[in-house]
Parts: sequence; C-alpha cells; structure tokens
Amino acid sequence: MEKIRITALVFASFVLCACIGNSQSHGPAAAAIAPTATPQPTTTPIINATATPQNPAAAQTTATASPAPAATAIPPARQPAGRLNVHLIDAGQGDAILVEAGNASMLVDCGDAQHADAVVDYLNSSGITALNYLVATHPHADHIGGCPEVMRAVVVENVLDNGQNASSATYREFKAAAAGTNYSAAGKGFQSALGGAGFSVLWPVEKPLPGTNDNSIVIRLSFGSTAFMLMGDCERECEENLLNETIAAQVLKVGHHGSGTSTSQPFLDKVRPEAAIISVGANNTYGHPANATLSKLAAIGAAVYRTDLNGTITVSTNGTGYTVAAVGLPN
Ligand SMILES: [Zn+2]
Repeated sequence: MEKIRITALVFASFVLCACIGNSQSHGPAAAAIAPTATPQPTTTPIINATATPQNPAAAQTTATASPAPAATAIPPARQPAGRLNVHLIDAGQGDAILVEAGNASMLVDCGDAQHADAVVDYLNSSGITALNYLVATHPHADHIGGCPEVMRAVVVENVLDNGQNASSATYREFKAAAAGTNYSAAGKGFQSALGGAGFSVLWPVEKPLPGTNDNSIVIRLSFGSTAFMLMGDCERECEENLLNETIAAQVLKVGHHGSGTSTSQPFLDKVRPEAAIISVGANNTYGHPANATLSKLAAIGAAVYRTDLNGTITVSTNGTGYTVAAVGLPN
C-alpha cells in the first residue's frame, strides 16, 4: 500500500480568514495573521492580558463572531504567502481539521453527519471552494460522517483514506461520495507537498492492527521548522509503532479526543509538544478528555486547547514561530 507521491499543487483556493479572536504567540518570529484588505465580519475580541500558554483557559475570548458575510462582489482575500494555518474546527465530538498552506488546502476528517453543516459553514466562511486533499483518517462516523456533505459543498481533488474497508452505511456513503474524486489509499510513506508546506503519512502500514482506531492515518505536517502531529484516533499500540519515526512537533493534535488510551508517555516524550489541541464534544458521554491525559500534557509543559472550551482553534505559523487563536466560545 505504500505510496510516495509528490504533487505540485497549483490550483488556487481562496481564503477569507475572518476567524481570529484571541491569539497567543510562540517563538521568536510569531506574528498574528496579516490583516486582509477586505472587511471582516464584526468580531470584537476581548483578550485577557493575563493569559499564558500554560493557562489557555484564561485566554478565552468572550467575543461573539457574527456569521461570515454571504458572497458579495468583494474579491476574496488570498491566504498570505508564507503561512500555514491549521484550524481545529469545533465539530462536537468529531474531528475536522482544515489546513491552509499558501493557496493549497486540506481537510483532515469531516466530523459527524450532525455537524457537517458547521464544517461546511466554516469552509465557506474561510473562502474555501476547493480542497486539494480530503483525508479520512479512519472509517468511524465522528470522522467521516460529514464527508459526503463536504464533498457536495466544495470541489475535492484528492481523497485519501487508510484503505481498510468498513461495513457501515456511513462508510458506504463516504466511498460513494469519493467516487467522483481522485481516491487513493494512503499509508506509511505517502508524502505530498501542500503549498509551501508538506506532509507525510506515518501510519498505518499494510498489515492492520486489531483496532479500527489504531489504523488511523497519522500525519506529520511541517512548514519551515514548525511541525504538527495529526493523530486521528491513534491509540497506544499505534503510538508504539511511531516511536522510531520523526515525530517531534511543536503542536500535537491529541489522539482519540484525549482518551486515556492515547497519548502514552513514551510517545509524548518523543513528540514533546509545546501546544496540545484536543477535539472533544462538550459533556460527551465518553469522559473525554481523560484526566490522566491532561495531567501528562501538563507535566510535559504543553499548553492545552480544547474545542469544547475554546471553540474552533487556529494555529498559524510562518515556519518559525506560531500563534494559537480561538473564537466562538460556548457560554
Ligand atoms: Zn473519533
């Protein structure tokens, strides 16, 4: 299943990034996203000046973002050159991660069907009309349930999944929707450019592990000296198989919604994230994130951001430093 493909991504995806409420800087060259020339939706962030990366909850903005304006004659702003933006979209308990790099874009998971509208709305408000890649990390409904609606809403050039079939109706609907795209299975060894950034698939391998979560597509996304680990629902056994790979990263999208079966200590010791972002639904019945996981992240000094507390979380990097911003907090 191993494939290596370097794809030059040339088609434009226009971006109107109107979503930054509160930001925290990391690294010597961190800078907020450059303002665009177009008017932004009315967002009035209130930034708590006492916020620290170690206490992201204190940085919550009370801003209320109004919906993005409907399409107008104003030309959309283009993504500023030389930036990589990673948005952990608030999609309830599911995962949906928008990656923008230059004029290229990728969506890693789509959330569940119930939150598909929220994901599509976020793509629309970000000016995304086409995605270079849609990645389904594994065939659980909280990751792929929203994909058919996404594929109906925007042009998707390439769809990647882990190549392991599931028997669910959700998976059949996903595959049917993907039939009109350039679909491929991606495992360890798959690489691609994405604008000025690049990503590598570190997992899975052809022989699957017993658990569906443990066969999640794991991506290391890098831009300059900044790297992200996007873990899907990779759990302990999956993590063990990554220990000899290059997995150091400033930003960790924590595996499996912060469950206690992920983020094992040996794995965390290799990644050594400065920022840990958790996609998790408010008051979920799974008990995610686990206190043990939060304790391990705190012990290693990682700032923790959660979609249930912080809403959609955006990490923006110029390849050297990065900022973390959040908007739309639940009351
Ligand atoms: Zn999940």
